[in-house]
Amino acid sequence: MPDKVLLLGGTLEAALLSRRLAVDPSVELIVSLAGRVAALPDLPGRVRVGGFGGAEGLRDFLRAEGITRVIDATHPFAAAISAHAAQACAALGIPLQRVERPQWCRHPGDRWHWADDMGMAARMAAALGRRVLLTVGKGPLAPFARHGGPDYVIRLIDPPKASLGFRRAAIVLGRGPFTLKDEVALMRRFSVDLLVSKASGGPATEAKLAAARMLDVPVVLVKRPLGAAE
Ligand code: NAP
Repeated sequence: MPDKVLLLGGTLEAALLSRRLAVDPSVELIVSLAGRVAALPDLPGRVRVGGFGGAEGLRDFLRAEGITRVIDATHPFAAAISAHAAQACAALGIPLQRVERPQWCRHPGDRWHWADDMGMAARMAAALGRRVLLTVGKGPLAPFARHGGPDYVIRLIDPPKASLGFRRAAIVLGRGPFTLKDEVALMRRFSVDLLVSKASGGPATEAKLAAARMLDVPVVLVKRPLGAAE
């Protein structure tokens, strides 16, 4: 009987892992994506897109598909799906493997300030920055819009469908990996004096931290949600 694997993805790590699993003849692979971005990545195996309907929906999916193993390679900030995977796998006695993304390491010259959550990061941005590069994704922008204050440069993967509610903001579109050269150019172009980022870790989006170090720009890093690996 094949090992029927559900790979919870949406990350570079999941994409790389899917390619390794796809060439293993003992594995039948289903990759699951939340569908947060318009352009779906080209992945091997069967790809399904969209939520399961909570932990119970995921449990029903695992049972109906006869999944024998789940690999959670989701983003460090995607806490809900990870919690649901833990609950559903525990309920059915299915092994669950978590792919942990290492945290970024601080280097000499880094001027990092830690925020416990997005609300705190928004308050810090309003206090510390005048031209703030926001790289937190499209989900958690509301607290920054509410605080007003600085001019924002907001990097998104897809163009927003509606107004983001900021008084002054420029939108730049881009999807990692980013190079140091491009990150430095972006920060210089907008005279960025503060960077805000999730503490996502991983190499694909690390160049912005090196660019900030190089340009002596402070960084507000939002801690990973509770329950995520430190
Ligand atoms: P989340 O809060 O963990 O997930 C919310 C819901 O989305 C889940 O309950 C689940 O819906 C669905 N979902 C998430 N990942 C899924 C997957 N791989 N397959 C199927 N359904 C999935 O995560 P999020 O709302 O997507 O994102 C939270 C944070 O993570 C944001 O800061 C975002 O920028 C960051 N992030 C997420 C992804 C991603 O692919 N999800 C990628 C990069 C960054 P049901 O409850 O209906 O099953």
